[in-house]
Amino acid sequence: MKIALFDIDGTILLAHGAGRRSMERALVAGAGAVGSGGQHYAGKTDPQIAREAMRYAGLNDAEIDARMAGVIELYLANLDAELHASAHDPPRVLPGVREILDACEAHEGVVLGLLTGNVMVGAERKLRAVGVDPGRFEVGAFGSDHEDRPTLAEIARQRAADYLARDVAGNACVVIGDTPADVACGLAIGARTIAVCTGNFSDAELRASGAHVVMRDLSDTPAVLQAILNG
Ligand SMILES: [Mg+2]
Repeated sequence: MKIALFDIDGTILLAHGAGRRSMERALVAGAGAVGSGGQHYAGKTDPQIAREAMRYAGLNDAEIDARMAGVIELYLANLDAELHASAHDPPRVLPGVREILDACEAHEGVVLGLLTGNVMVGAERKLRAVGVDPGRFEVGAFGSDHEDRPTLAEIARQRAADYLARDVAGNACVVIGDTPADVACGLAIGARTIAVCTGNFSDAELRASGAHVVMRDLSDTPAVLQAILNG
């Protein structure tokens, strides 16, 4: 049995900055904090992004902890509007994603899952914005489960074990993502890692991060399914 754990942003879909705009507005309203314009969001959990921005604005960790839930709540309140803000540039699903999700779902040897830094409610909204039903994912680990991304892989592995009611080894998991952070997160539990170049990272950067397989995108469904099954 393989547990296929898909990242969301840059892997399943592109939301064209809706998450970033929602978070920046939430940080201003909820913490008076503006993160560095150069802050990278890719591969990080939502609470990690919020903490980094608030630290940058000079808040200490106790102050950040006191504001965190409120900032995430404001982020979610902004997200729906931002996801639907741009009629000419709406969120879109990436090439081959619908097909590989269908193929994983249809294959009796694959459990379909999510492994994302998005808080769970945000993940669900982003998926719905591109017409992917969040309910089809049988297991998942989210930024709302833990702030530290590498820890999320272990949470996903444990949830898969609970779901299947049997032990799941780290190497039965396959992490599919678009950033070196996704790869590191998978390697932390001994998972196979498939990196895709549909986010902001190049083939060379993803290879250097230690990904077992690097693909331009997920459009070659048989090849992606084979990479998942061979892990
Ligand atoms: Mg991503």
